[in-house]
Amino acid sequence: MREKNKERVLALSGGVGGSKLAFGLSKMLPPDQLTILANTGDDFEHLGFTICPDIDSLLYSLSGINNSKLGWGQKGETWNFLSALERLGGETWFKLGDRDLATHIFRAAKLKEGLSLSEVTMLLADGMGASHRILPMTDQPVRTMIHCELGSLSFQNYFVKERCEPKVKNIKFEGIESAILNPAALDFIEQGLKAVIICPSNPFLSIDPILSLDGVVDAIKKQGCPVVAVSNIIGGAALKGPAAKLMSELGIAESALGVAKYYQERYPGLLTDFVLDQKDKHLENDIAMLDLSTSVTQTLMNSSERKKKLAADILNLVSKALSF
Ligand code: GDP
Repeated sequence: MREKNKERVLALSGGVGGSKLAFGLSKMLPPDQLTILANTGDDFEHLGFTICPDIDSLLYSLSGINNSKLGWGQKGETWNFLSALERLGGETWFKLGDRDLATHIFRAAKLKEGLSLSEVTMLLADGMGASHRILPMTDQPVRTMIHCELGSLSFQNYFVKERCEPKVKNIKFEGIESAILNPAALDFIEQGLKAVIICPSNPFLSIDPILSLDGVVDAIKKQGCPVVAVSNIIGGAALKGPAAKLMSELGIAESALGVAKYYQERYPGLLTDFVLDQKDKHLENDIAMLDLSTSVTQTLMNSSERKKKLAADILNLVSKALSF
């Protein structure tokens, strides 16, 4: 039997919000102590490519080539491909930059050769110089479908093409029943965890797909380690994206309390700790009433320093929880 290494941290992440904290964690922990499990529900097929927005945000962020101005894509991006495509009358609603395109072409070619998404992600990470492991939540296709007033839309159609405007009725993850949790992630969990950190990602679109995979919640619970969720809602608003709008359409209070309640109701007994922003301090008692340890800190990560600081705060709180 392998010796259990209790220094290991598993982070669950979507794209924009998740990759900021993942970056911070990667500066605090060596590669063998951190694995990031990435949502693939936002993946989609476009122009012959399989596009994996959350994996790419993580790759770009952890390798330091992310475009912090745009909040997505690579820095120093140019758009020659897109304007040439426009001239041809091609579909340009999804913004593919020239540098970004290299990722998609590389991924498409390797998938065609028969490599799995995990294997291709590893190659991309090596090429970009991201040394911490980013694992797709599964190697099988899972596609988030948004059931809204326009009917059933694929996630990117809803998100980019329709700009999140249609009112959402419910969200389904097509393919989730037959998808298998990435075996490398299961192995990482079963080797012993110090903590699981649920990044401040969209709970419905980024975290639910990961936690909906068969066996993942039970495998995490079995570890009996701290499971810390960080609120993606600050002061009643999402920093980017449709999280707050979705909450109101799904009948959930648009607040850190709403996020905590949602996780507690959907995954009873999974979370141990909830991190909320200092702007939401007034909600701390109500969140604690949900049987959660609470921690209030600055969760806005608008600089590298703040990403590292939030990661350090969370790791401190995990160490404190473990020393009791
Ligand atoms: P996506 O997959 O690209 O949509 O990205 P995520 O699901 O990982 O992140 C989207 C969520 O991140 C939104 O709900 C934002 O409110 C949240 N978010 C973005 N930046 C920050 C930040 O600096 N701090 C916190 N607490 N949340 C953030």
